[in-house]
Amino acid sequence: MKTIIEPFKIKSVEPIRFTTRNERIEILKEAYFNPFLIKADDVLIDLLTDSGTSAMSAKQWAGMMEGDESYAGARSFFRFEKAVREITDMKYIIPTHQGRAAEKILFTIIGGKGKFIPNNTHFDTTRANVEFSGAVAVDFQTEEGKQPNVIAPFKGNMNIPELEKFILKTGAENIPVCFITVTNNSGGGQPVSMENIRGTKSILKRYGIPLFIDACRFAENAFFIKKREPGYEDKTPKEIVQEMFSYADGVTMSAKKDAIVNMGGFLALNDENLAMQARNLLIVTEGFPTYGGLAGRDLEAIAQGLEEVLDEHYLTYRLRSVEYLGNKLTEIGIPILQPPGGHAIYIDAKGFVPQIPSNQYPGQAVVCELYKIGGIRSVEIGSVMFGKYDNEGKLITPAMELVRLAIPRRVYTQSHIDYVIECCEELFSNKNLLKGFSIVYEAPQLRHFTAHFKPL
Ligand SMILES: *Cc1c(COP(=O)(O)O)cnc(C)c1O
Repeated sequence: MKTIIEPFKIKSVEPIRFTTRNERIEILKEAYFNPFLIKADDVLIDLLTDSGTSAMSAKQWAGMMEGDESYAGARSFFRFEKAVREITDMKYIIPTHQGRAAEKILFTIIGGKGKFIPNNTHFDTTRANVEFSGAVAVDFQTEEGKQPNVIAPFKGNMNIPELEKFILKTGAENIPVCFITVTNNSGGGQPVSMENIRGTKSILKRYGIPLFIDACRFAENAFFIKKREPGYEDKTPKEIVQEMFSYADGVTMSAKKDAIVNMGGFLALNDENLAMQARNLLIVTEGFPTYGGLAGRDLEAIAQGLEEVLDEHYLTYRLRSVEYLGNKLTEIGIPILQPPGGHAIYIDAKGFVPQIPSNQYPGQAVVCELYKIGGIRSVEIGSVMFGKYDNEGKLITPAMELVRLAIPRRVYTQSHIDYVIECCEELFSNKNLLKGFSIVYEAPQLRHFTAHFKPL
């Protein structure tokens, strides 16, 4: 097989700034060893997130000029509505400024005290919005989905037997909606099979509970289905996506992921009454229903991106470039969450630097070392992000200590990724020398964004 190449050529470029190792040591110190506090100009390869960091196509930029900025009834809205309807077939399509705005509107209406929202795994903002409404967010990962080393095709799946037990125990009347997140972001970017979506829907139908899809990475999920699920090899990504959404009663989406834009999102619904309430809230918090917190040009770019993301050459390149990085790290001997997901590689820091205990933040040590070696920015997903204190002030640590290398869409070429791999080789040879960190400042909530660290 020949090399899978980037299915685009480059027309507009953005320089990246090189720093020396000594400069980076100073920069890290000034940022209190927290990558969120490093200036983007001081980063060479930015793998902090795949959200809103994509490169738009020439056609998307052209769409920006075509954008109709009319307050009401803009042409761009109708193009956007058509594009979303084409893939989701939902009746009511409501633009929002990003995914969490769609979540906030939805859970304000259907959430509240005494309500429970199941999901294969809630993404942080989804969980936060469920809980903010007073409802309880419950995750139903499968057993294999919880095992970082197990290789299985659909580790993002919903645990359907556990979901059904939960419905019987809780009472369907207390479950206004059930979510499936594709791909399962917090579960390592792992895909959900069509069989699992269909199975979840049939259980929910029995109890009269609507199924919503958190669709941020719907195209990546569809391509995993094509490659891994029997019966889908000859279907187009679009056909697969249409079948996925045919089981859904509603969709929330952050366009910053698989619509390949820098800002945007939507809520799509089939229920007329719910749509009416959502639009009323939208007017208060986001804007008029035909722009919802976005400019007309943003709506154009989303419409175009939703089409481009379903291109097979794009999806082949997309999944392959993530897998390529994952396979190389495995060859080097760096333990990663297996198999590689759709948008990121997760290094298992606990397995990689076992000399650093969880309360000294092994993931943070890896993140800082990668920056020091090569100016690469990654993010800790472990005790820094999810650590909580008990009544005695002792740190309660999550099950896994991960470092995420998220790959922005269409931004970096293979040689950038090869450079990352070379830096990871150096990281591997230094691993026994890495030391932990202590936290010297933290905010009461979401401490990972602003915490200050001190090397031990
Ligand atoms: C990013 C994301 C969201 C929230 O979207 P924002 O646009 O960042 O508000 C919700 N769910 C999942 C799975 C995500 O990845």
